[in-house]
Order: sequence, then C-alpha cells, then structure tokens
Amino acid sequence: MSWAELPGLVDGPEDRRLVSLVRPADWVKPAPRGRYNLVVLGGGTAGLVSAMGAAGLGARVALCERELLGGDCLAFGCVPSKALLRSAHAAHAARNASSLGVSSGSVEVDGPAVFRRLRHLRADIAPHDAAARVRDAGVDVYLESARFTGHDTVEVNGATLRFSRAVIATGSRARVPEVPGLAEAGYLTNVTVFALSEPPPRLVVIGAGPIGCELSQAFARLGSQVTLLGNKPQILPRDDHEAAEFVAVALRRELRLELAVRVRRVERRGEVRVVEVEQAGRVFVVEGEEVLVATGRTPNIEGLGLEAAGVETTRRGIATNDFLRTSNRRVYAAGDVAGRWAFTHAADAMARVVLRNALFFGRSRVSGLHVPWCTYTDPELAQVGLTLSEAQARGAVTLTTSLERNDRALIDGQTEGFARVHLDPRRGTILGATFVGAGAGDAIGEMAVALQGGLRMEDLSATIHPYPTRIESWKRLGDDWQRAKLTPRVAGLLRRFLSLRR
Ligand SMILES: Cc1cc2nc3c(=O)[nH]c(=O)nc-3n(C[C@H](O)[C@H](O)[C@H](O)COP(=O)(O)OP(=O)(O)OC[C@H]3O[C@@H](n4cnc5c(N)ncnc54)[C@H](O)[C@@H]3O)c2cc1C
Repeated sequence: MSWAELPGLVDGPEDRRLVSLVRPADWVKPAPRGRYNLVVLGGGTAGLVSAMGAAGLGARVALCERELLGGDCLAFGCVPSKALLRSAHAAHAARNASSLGVSSGSVEVDGPAVFRRLRHLRADIAPHDAAARVRDAGVDVYLESARFTGHDTVEVNGATLRFSRAVIATGSRARVPEVPGLAEAGYLTNVTVFALSEPPPRLVVIGAGPIGCELSQAFARLGSQVTLLGNKPQILPRDDHEAAEFVAVALRRELRLELAVRVRRVERRGEVRVVEVEQAGRVFVVEGEEVLVATGRTPNIEGLGLEAAGVETTRRGIATNDFLRTSNRRVYAAGDVAGRWAFTHAADAMARVVLRNALFFGRSRVSGLHVPWCTYTDPELAQVGLTLSEAQARGAVTLTTSLERNDRALIDGQTEGFARVHLDPRRGTILGATFVGAGAGDAIGEMAVALQGGLRMEDLSATIHPYPTRIESWKRLGDDWQRAKLTPRVAGLLRRFLSLRR
C-alpha cells in the first residue's frame, strides 16, 4: 500500500518525513527466522513495547504493522491532539493576558500554521518508533497486515511466522454510531481531523468523552464555533462528577454544550451538515461545516483469524484473564484491543505485564496496575484509583481541598478546581485521588506513586513540597487528615502538656 492511500496523511514535507521513518517505502521484508519466541501483531505503543522489550531480553521477535509504526498515539491520537491543544491554549492565554496586566493586541490564529506544526511535531517524535530503530534493536519488522492461521502460526504477506508466544496489540478505532444520514453526510474522526488545513467555521462534535471534550475546546479556542453533544447528563462520564462539572462550566464559556441528547439524523445541505438532536422530548438542529465523531472506541479484531487461533472475544475486545492471556495459552493481548483502558501509558504497562508472563513464568496481574488518566482540557482533569462514586460505595473517607486555598493557583489566577483524596479510614491508606485544575496531569503523578507504594495520608503530610506549587494541595490534605484524627481528648491532653511546659 502506498502511503498516499493511508487516510489522515497530507502530501507535504512533514508527513513525508513521518512516513519515511515509520513506514519507509523501500523497506526490505525480512525472511522468517524459524520459530519466534514472540510474534507481535500491531506496532502501536503496546506492540512496540512488547517487541522492543522482548528483543532487549534476547528473545527472537517479529513485529507486524499494517499501517504506521507508532500507531494512533503518534499519528492520530495523543501527539497531534496535544499539539493542537498547545496552540489553542496559547491563543486563549494571549486573548486573556490583560487579566495579568499584559496587553497583546488582537490575536490572530494562523490555521494552516497550527496544522503544519502538529504534523511537523509528529515527524519530530517519529524517530522513537522508526522501523530502522526497531530493526536495529533485533526485531524482524514486517510492514504488512497479519493474521493467525493456526494455534501457533501467523501469516504476513504470504510468509508464515511460527511462534511460541504471540501478542495481539492491534489497537482500536473510532466507534461510529448508527445515525441515519451520517455516513452520507460525511464526518471526521480522530484519523481525518488532523489532516484539516484549518479550523472549520463551525464544528459539531458528537461525544463528550475525553477526545470530544479536548478537541471541542481546541477548535473553539482556534476560532471555530463549536457545538458539543453528549448522550449522558455528564461530560467525561467515567470521571468524578463534581470534577467533570468544573470542566463543563469552563467549556460552556467557550462553546455550546448540550448534554443528555440523542442525535436523530444528519443531513448535508451544500457545504453545511445539519444535525437533528433530541433532548428531553424537544427536537432542535445544530449546524456545522464539519461533524466530528468522538463516541468511543471499537477494538480492531476483524480479519485477525482469531477462530483459527482459538482466541475468544467479548464486546469490548479480545477476552483475557488477569494475566492478559487469551483463550489460547500461547496468545496474549495488550493495549486498546484488550478493552480495559484506552491510554498509551496503559498500553505500555500492559505490554510489560505480557512480557513478564509470556516470556518467563511471571504471574503479573493486570488488576494490580494503578492506571492514572488525564483529560487535557483547561482545566485539566486527572484521576487515579477509586473515583468518588466508587469510594462512596466502598465506605472510604473523602477529603477535598479547593484550589482557592492554594497560593500558586491564586498567584496564577487559576483557582478553578480542587484536589481530592479517598482513603481507608482505619489505616489512612490512599485509595484514589482526583485533581481538577491547571497542571492536573502532572499533579496526579504524585498520587500514582502513593498508590503504587501503598502510602498513607501521614506520608503526604510528612513530604516536603516546593513552595509555591499546586501539588502542595496533597500535603494540605495530609495535614487536614492529621488534624481530623485529633480527637477532643487527645487535643485536651496536648493542651495540658504544653501549658505545663510554659
Ligand atoms: C484523539 C486521541 C487522543 C488521545 N490522547 C491520549 C492521551 O493524551 N494520552 C493517552 O494516554 N492516550 C491517548 N489516546 C489513546 C492512545 O492513543 C491509545 O490508547 C494508544 O494508541 C493505544 O495503543 P495500542 O498499541 O493499543 O494501539 P494503537 O496505537 O491503535 O496501535 C495498534 C496498531 O496495530 C495496527 N494493526 C491493526 N490491525 C493489524 C493487523 N491485522 N496486522 C498488523 N497491524 C495491525 C494498527 O495499524 C495500529 O498501528 C488518544 C487517542 C485518541 C484517538
């Protein structure tokens, strides 16, 4: 397949450079080297981490990728979306700089430059995932589609690869809802949206999960008039509902947000797409030059020959046990296709679980992973461990501190948000945390360490944080917990002791 046939790429120097690294036209197909320790299907994050990790340990490894090495994260996910948000947030900051006593004049967004920048960046980041780098690490790289032909064989472009173990790491793609007229009207997904040359005048986004929320805000800040449609009463439905509400309030200032809606049909009238929406019995239409579908992900499990390999699936993807092993004991699954999380860092973590379990006699359990996540809207919303509703169901204690109590947030004029911890009331162990506010993605890292290390609230209180930072909020919650533990009797005893020491 020529790279020009791949959707979502633009014929220009940036995407040519990207393709020359992650899908070189002159790639020489390797000859199969007997039986492999590991054959990897899919060269996104999960596949690359599995293949490179196994080769680094001395295993004989083959990796098959049908499109671009690096997968969605590099080409159509994390990298271009965060690049777009960077430009969008810069435009917003410039427009609002007067609140800091800085005048920036009128703010112009150079749409083509913004999109060129994101393509430039993914080409800059591509060397990490380059075919030559993977080959030089000792992996046989096949840039073709792969499928199982038996319990221990995979076919790739006419060649048969025999394996002792295999990993399915074929990722996911945009789930497209069955809405009458949508296909005929045409729509964007995460693959095609980054190939635009500039923001459309009006954009309708269907789906208020992380991708829908991030891209809605990005396009709104870049100058599009955005309508964001969510089918649930809450945006970011997997998250703490009070934290999600902070994000919803911020979004409503910049775009039209309609929740608890059902999209009834879409129609194209000339250059305009007309979306008919139902909300609490009322029907209305919203219009856009473009419609972006962001209604979740569907696992890439078709055409993999799963029946031949005896690998079972569920609605969410490849069925795996706690060790990420499938119904074929030789075959494992990792990343989005395993249907547990859809994050790059989770794909990476799952690949490491697979390496331990597949190549050695590991008993690494995926249920033991503490996977944080973050939605990079402004404010950001980050989570690790139990969410509010899960904590309430488990009888955990929840402590919250507003960013209005945080000096750094006050200094920066970014006091919207809070830090929240859920803990075991008997032992003080941290069970989960939420941060909504600027820098949440970085702030949640400390709580990921706390969960991984089984830390308690007194550890937060005892940890010295630099002043002034937002992460001091965690220490404040530790102090709040220490104070709350002080019973009136202990407080009275302390007072008496200190009065004797005067
Ligand atoms: C817009 C957007 C923004 C995102 N932002 C973030 C973020 O900020 N942070 C974050 O953690 N995550 C983010 N994600 C999610 C992240 O991109 C995915 O979780 C991650 O890419 C999953 O990695 P993977 O290896 O499982 O799958 P993928 O990256 O999808 O890779 C799978 C690969 O398998 C290949 N393949 C499929 N079938 C075959 C076959 N039969 N033979 C050979 N190859 C095959 C595909 O071509 C693909 O390259 C975002 C996703 C999107 C869409």
